[in-house]
Amino acid sequence: MFVVKITSYLCKDCGYCVKFCPKHILEIGTERNSRGFFYPHLTDASACISCAICASMCPEGAIELPAEGETDNG
Ligand code: SF4
Ligand code: SF4
Repeated sequence: MFVVKITSYLCKDCGYCVKFCPKHILEIGTERNSRGFFYPHLTDASACISCAICASMCPEGAIELPAEGETDNG
């Protein structure tokens, strides 16, 4: 099981992840990141199929799918 992790400050609000998520569970929010861009969030994490399309579409590397429980120490 992988969980979508969005690093909000890297986002440039291109909308690719929202457009290409096959489950339509990514949505651009109403808060701006530190660079002034609106960034996405998951609307229904339980519906995510961990396909990683969002991560592969993001030109900014703002989306990762680390394994659940994975830590920075490995
Ligand atoms: S991993 Fe797939 S289903 Fe989950 S949010 Fe990303 S594109 Fe959507
Ligand atoms: S694809 Fe990346 S840069 Fe574009 S809106 Fe999604 S998170 Fe932001």
